[in-house]
Order: sequence, then C-alpha cells, then structure tokens
Amino acid sequence: MDYMKQADQVLMKTYNRFPVVFEKGEGVYLYDIEGKKYLDFAAGIAVFALGYGNETYKQALKDQIDKILHTSNLYYNVPAINAATKIVNTTGMGRVFFTNSGTEAIEGALKVARKYAYKKEKREDYEFIAMYHSFHGRSQGALSVTGNEKYQEGFVPEGCRAVFANFNDLEDVISKVNDKTCGIICEVVQGEGGIYPGDKEFLEGLRRLCDEKDIVLIFDEVQCGMGRCGAMYAHELYGVKPDVMALAKALGCGVPVGAFVTSSKVSDVLVPGDHGTTYGGNPFATAAVSVVYDLYDELNIVDHVNEIGAYLYDELEKLADKYACIKEHRGIGLMQGLEFHGPVSSIVKKALEKGLVIISAGANTLRFIPPLVIEKEHVDEMTAILSSVIEEVMA
Ligand SMILES: *Cc1c(COP(=O)(O)O)cnc(C)c1O
Repeated sequence: MDYMKQADQVLMKTYNRFPVVFEKGEGVYLYDIEGKKYLDFAAGIAVFALGYGNETYKQALKDQIDKILHTSNLYYNVPAINAATKIVNTTGMGRVFFTNSGTEAIEGALKVARKYAYKKEKREDYEFIAMYHSFHGRSQGALSVTGNEKYQEGFVPEGCRAVFANFNDLEDVISKVNDKTCGIICEVVQGEGGIYPGDKEFLEGLRRLCDEKDIVLIFDEVQCGMGRCGAMYAHELYGVKPDVMALAKALGCGVPVGAFVTSSKVSDVLVPGDHGTTYGGNPFATAAVSVVYDLYDELNIVDHVNEIGAYLYDELEKLADKYACIKEHRGIGLMQGLEFHGPVSSIVKKALEKGLVIISAGANTLRFIPPLVIEKEHVDEMTAILSSVIEEVMA
C-alpha cells in the first residue's frame, strides 16, 4: 500500500492503475509483493509471449549484458544484424529498422509512405487513410492515424488527422482515396478497438487498391503479430503482403523493442539522414529479439498457438452460449475477445481480486491475450474463475 501512495506522488497520473504491485513472474503466473499468485491472461498487453522466466531467454540477456548494452547506430553490432536477418528470413520482406516501441515503428512506417510519395511528386500535403477504432500509438504521428476521438482530442488538430474509413468496408476506403493519399494503414486484427479480425476480401482489396494507385500499404502487427494469431505474422493467414509492417510488443518479450519492416518496393526509400534513433536496435534489445525467434522455433510456438487457440475458442463459445450478458465472441489464435452488453470494468476488477489478470479492449470487450505458452489446463483455470466472476458481478 505504501508503494501505491508513493506512486501517486511521483508517477504522472496518465493511468488509472489497478491496486496491485507485481513483483515477479513464473511461467504463466504473476506474483504481487504480498506473494499472491495470479494467472496471467494479459501477458503485459500481449508482450510476454514466452511467459516469465524462460532460462534460455534469461541467459541470452545475461550474456549480452556481460558483453555490451549499447553502441549507437553509428557502428555495426552483431545482435542487430542477426535479429534483422531472422525478421527478413521469416517475413520474406526487404529490410528492418529497429525502434524502441510500437509507436515509433508506426512513425517510421508513416515516414516511409510519405517519402515514397514525395520522391515521385515532391508534394508535402499527403494524407493517410486509416480505420475507425484503430490504435497505433500515442505520439502525434501515430495518434493522427488512430481512429479514436478520445485519444486524439486536444492533441491532434483536425487538419493533421488521417482520413478515416470503416474497417472491413472496402467501398468506404475506395471512396476516400484521392490524389493526396500516400498510404493506407490498418491492423490485421484490431486490438485495442475490441478484437476485430480483418476480412480476407477487405485486406486483399486494400492490396489491390495500393498497387493500382502506387501507394503504400502499412500493416500494424504490433499486437497481432509474432505468432499471436496462429501464424508468425497475422497477414500470412490472409495471403496478403504489406509494403511496411510494424512490430513490437512480443518482439522482445519484455525488452522494449519494435521494428518496421519494408518490402523491396520501399526498402530503399529512407536514405542516410532521413531517419534515426539513439537506442533503437541496440545490442541488448536485439539480443532479446534474436533469442525470441530461436525460442519460437524451438518451442514450435505457432503450432502451439493453433492448438491452444482452438481450445480457447471452444471454451469461450461455451461461455458465450451460457451467459446472456455476453453479446459476441470474436478473434483468432490467442487473440480473442468477448463483447458484453455493457462495460466489463467490474469483471476485470473482480477477476483480479480472484487471481486472474485479464484486460479489456474498449469498454465492453474482455480481451484474452495470454502468454503463447499457456496450456489447456490454464484455459480451464481461467474459465472457472471467469465464470464465477460473471455470476457474481452480473447477478
Ligand atoms: C500497443 C500498440 C501500439 C503501440 O505500441 P507501444 O509499444 O505502446 O508504443 C501500436 N499499434 C498497436 C496495434 C498496438 O497494439
């Protein structure tokens, strides 16, 4: 309790935090400073894909700490080269730029699209088309394409906002393309907006549209990528390739790192002087990325997600059938949501009290984004707690 009081004095009040101080994690469980155990179905917001305390992961980081943490991008470093090679090999895309966060990966992606258009016409009044209910981050650039008034208000002036279209409505997007459009950005599966998977025809349509107009297609896979949806990258499930993809969250499994990855069409658009970062791609962060890719291979994470994701899907269907307060069940792999007829904040709070960490996506949707290493027994443990919470809270 003392910690929480202290936090209220010294940390900026940009979050309404839950009254828990987490101290450590083991596998798919978290422990607070009083030693209470929690089953984790949030993974630090889709970050801890490998769960907590993987020995290989920890050893790789310790080894890197013993060598060097940071060099700057004025020089080469081996972990960044290795990590980028793994990303290029698994995506079939062209080049990688490492950032420190998802937001920065989006910033970079937007710059690639602008520069690609600028090189052709030397204009500066380019626009993006983005989707309602999207989330791309909190910097001014990322906010400008985030389709949520609540986040934009007071920070992004009307004229600096993207043109917004309805997700999964191709006609709406087509009707909004004009000669200023330099790029289209969307999540393959919308996360914060409420767990809405893209439709195949929609994403294919965006691809065709971007090819026809010679504009840049950006997929934000910060949340839905890295195996979460049952493919290494969610767009593989649709057979649609972006020109730029943004990654972060599970990319470093806890070490802050993001990346934007370019297809060969736009890989050489940014040239020396166009973009940079002091920390981005430092040897510590990229050593994490590198070992994450190795462990995904070794543990067959993608296959595991398909197996457990299907099980979670069935179990959540049962809940949706059983409780009238549940409106809809959506999602793929280990990125699923249950939309309720009203706000889920009381469920989230009560679940935490009962030792289940789960978060919402938007006001009315419970979001299931556990560590990708969970097993069926953890799904059962979760549904048991959740059922009792629903019965208590919704009674
Ligand atoms: C979390 C998230 C971001 C922002 O990433 P940060 O690391 O918080 O900057 C961007 N896009 C999506 C889809 C996200 O889920």
